[in-house]
Amino acid sequence: MSRPLAQHDRRSWERLAGTFQPEGRAIIDGRAVPAADGRVFEDLSPIDGRAICPVARGGAADIDKAVAAARRSFESGPWRRMEPRERKRTLRRFAEAIRADVEHLALLETRDVGKPIANAVSVDVANCADCIEYYAEFADKLYDEIAPTGPNDLALVRREPLGVVGAIVPWNYPLIISCWKVGPALLTGNSVVLKPAEQSPLSAIRLAQLALDSGIPPGTFNVVPGYGEEAGKALALHPEVDLITFTGSTEVGRLMLRYAAESNLKRVALECGGKTPQVVFADADLEAAASGIAWGIYYNSGQTCHAGSRLIVDERVREPLIDAIRRVTATITLGHPLEPGTQMGALIDQGHMQRVLGYIEGGVAAGARIALGGHQALSETGGFYVEATVLDGVQPQMAVAREEIFGPVLAVMSFRDEADALRLANDSPYGLAAAVWTRDMNVAHRLSSALRGGTVWVNAFDRSTMATPFGGFKLSGFGRDRSPHAIDKYCDLKTIWTAYS
Ligand code: NAD
Repeated sequence: MSRPLAQHDRRSWERLAGTFQPEGRAIIDGRAVPAADGRVFEDLSPIDGRAICPVARGGAADIDKAVAAARRSFESGPWRRMEPRERKRTLRRFAEAIRADVEHLALLETRDVGKPIANAVSVDVANCADCIEYYAEFADKLYDEIAPTGPNDLALVRREPLGVVGAIVPWNYPLIISCWKVGPALLTGNSVVLKPAEQSPLSAIRLAQLALDSGIPPGTFNVVPGYGEEAGKALALHPEVDLITFTGSTEVGRLMLRYAAESNLKRVALECGGKTPQVVFADADLEAAASGIAWGIYYNSGQTCHAGSRLIVDERVREPLIDAIRRVTATITLGHPLEPGTQMGALIDQGHMQRVLGYIEGGVAAGARIALGGHQALSETGGFYVEATVLDGVQPQMAVAREEIFGPVLAVMSFRDEADALRLANDSPYGLAAAVWTRDMNVAHRLSSALRGGTVWVNAFDRSTMATPFGGFKLSGFGRDRSPHAIDKYCDLKTIWTAYS
């Protein structure tokens, strides 16, 4: 497209979609290849329910080929043994290639996932490039250790790459979550086989092509699209895979542990579901809280693992806060994802939309009241949209209070004192994140210590950079993405003890 990115309108994005043919084949050993048995599946867009393109339906034979290529690349060492400075330069080229390809990557992400194109450009693609660049910088700056010993011994503690990393990722942030795994895995010299979600395979395939163009050697970064129970399971069971780094549902996360136990005791890192509480005290800045709460649940149509899906509010300010949330939500434009002004797009597919609507119906049947939204939207498009919804009068035992809905549905519960607030907030099998809104720093301090979550925001929501670790407690998983801490998952420690006479 000739016009600058900021001037694109829906028509110019649609024109690009009409001329740019996405690659749907797997990337194995540096080449785009069909599935070994030639099978494909149709990749559907949630924007309008129509097919985008056929995609290779990878299975066990394709995973075998990809893992063998990754192993060969790792053992022969073009990437692992590359000078740290050169590896840094290559990863930085990769980050720049991602930035330069923003139009294609953003378009693929929006068509696959139905998220607003403005977000795909400024959040998904931008964060993906920033992540690769962030890890590139460690390549020539990370030091290993010398352990304290007596004068006649030298004990080196070295960080070594694991070998072949299998990465299995979900559909809600395909680029960002892939890069959270691929960045530190490649930095440390591993080879990678990435299995994107069947709903959103296209940006991952393009990412692997950009990696090749940037000089990452063939076989080092492979992508095998396919269904979870076929390609995903084969990867997680593979005896030549050293680590599975997984983001997705808690249910499938459990399977990863089982697959590891049944195969080669590979390591497993899990980033799973969430049911984040937003705890609002009566003294909070209600306007700021309302903004954090509305965006915290409606961004990406609520399909965010740490979406603030439970509002736990002091009963005295429940009504004014819900009014303020309604006012903020009225400014959030639900619309066609390729329209640059759209701020809330589609849900991933019809089945998921029905599931979300089912939760709303079930909540009402159990006694909750709809305070906002509650219905399907834009049904004339053929796509899968749900209105921003608030369910008031939710009780802690209801399914809408306990289960991950993964849609634009806020469940409101109220509390009478601080102990009650803490009990409600921690009464969840999940522990990914939490937020506290209060002007009393003593309350903020007590609550942020006592809340069980991998991230606790105080008077803010969803603020983060690559510098802070991300992941959960309890059924939200273990292991952390982002930050220097993520690097540890992709390495093993080796002690080399030398005795001198
Ligand atoms: P999912 O668990 O259904 O699928 C995730 C991935 O696992 C996909 O690639 C899928 O193909 C694969 N998979 C499915 N079954 C498999 C099997 N039997 N063996 C191997 N692989 C299999 O999750 P989803 O619906 O794609 O994503 C939504 C979930 O992801 C939500 O629960 C959300 O909270 C979670 N999530 C968590 C984080 C986090 O960082 N904690 C981030 C984003 C999403």
